[in-house]
Amino acid sequence: MILTENDIYHGDLILVNKDHMYRREGETPFERAGNELLSQRAASALKALLKATDSEEDIIVVSGFRSYQEQRDLWESSLSENGREFTEQYVARPLHSEHQTGLAVDVGLNVEEIDFIRPYFPDEGKCRAFRLNAAKFGFILRYPAEKEHITHISHEPWHFRYVGVPHAEIMEQNGFTLEEYTVFLKAYSNTPLILGDFAVSYLKGERFPLEIPDGFSVSGNNADGFVLSRRTV
Ligand SMILES: [Zn+2]
Repeated sequence: MILTENDIYHGDLILVNKDHMYRREGETPFERAGNELLSQRAASALKALLKATDSEEDIIVVSGFRSYQEQRDLWESSLSENGREFTEQYVARPLHSEHQTGLAVDVGLNVEEIDFIRPYFPDEGKCRAFRLNAAKFGFILRYPAEKEHITHISHEPWHFRYVGVPHAEIMEQNGFTLEEYTVFLKAYSNTPLILGDFAVSYLKGERFPLEIPDGFSVSGNNADGFVLSRRTV
């Protein structure tokens, strides 16, 4: 596999937040999940997670992929309806929303009145089972409580982000947000992090084109390099 600089902005581990905008709209192959679109891998993993927790009828996909235009409309309508303070807490600015990647999904308990910005997702029953099993299927709770100083988004129990396996489990075991995991991995540029059957390492994005041997899964980090992972057995 040959990587170019553009590949830094592509892949399941891209960090999209207020400091890192999304640059690659429209390049992800999509698949339907409920009434929404997600990247293919995220959609398949979500369906498997819903099935494993027997929650296909109870939990609905409230919001998946949003185009730049949709995110801008949501931001502007929330500003006028809910005011700036609420909007900055719960809605990412256009170009800075994970929903533009197709890797983020808002899920909600299937109740009569669905709140589009803050779906009801209580920490009990099927919703709790979904959360507890999410990492096994490659999803993390992206905006946990007590990490608001890092993510700059308020606690959102309904917003999950697909990062893939084994990353979701490493992040969950260590209590890392994606911001923290991106920094953490930089210590593993010479010697990989070994976890179970996986080896994970960081590769700085310089001296392009970069040639990657067969057998690695690669994602850009949307900042300055790549995360490489491979099975060790
Ligand atoms: Zn969301």
